[in-house]
Amino acid sequence: MFDDLTDLYQQVILDHSKSPRNFRVLPDANRHAQGQNPICGDNITLFLKMDGDRVAEATFQGSGCAISKASSSILTETLKGKTKAEVRELFEKVRAMVTTGKTPEGDLGKLAVFTGVHKFPARVKCAILPWHAAMAAIEGKDETVTTE
Ligand code: ZN
Repeated sequence: MFDDLTDLYQQVILDHSKSPRNFRVLPDANRHAQGQNPICGDNITLFLKMDGDRVAEATFQGSGCAISKASSSILTETLKGKTKAEVRELFEKVRAMVTTGKTPEGDLGKLAVFTGVHKFPARVKCAILPWHAAMAAIEGKDETVTTE
């Protein structure tokens, strides 16, 4: 299924799914949200420590496929230090990228590895799942978000 992804992107995704970064409970988190993708069976909990308007720390726990794990891992790395407004902006860019396959303007860094996901419609939800959870968490909505 990864045939159309470039080797580099595939390597980054495999690396993050095998050795997810920030894969732990965050004891002093002041925000958290759960994301579920019933079609695939992805179930992740995102923990954020907000320092005012800024994300001081982001971690996650849960289980899921390689794409959802890699996306969660890269998301937690990306969110650290971002303001709520920046997270919202990134969410829109990532959503556009994984649904259209077009890389948005600006440097998305590692997030660009998910560009190829748009060719696998069932996987778009896996990639975007942690972003939905992140949006719920920064908005302070203590609820489970689902892709369905
Ligand atoms: Zn999945």
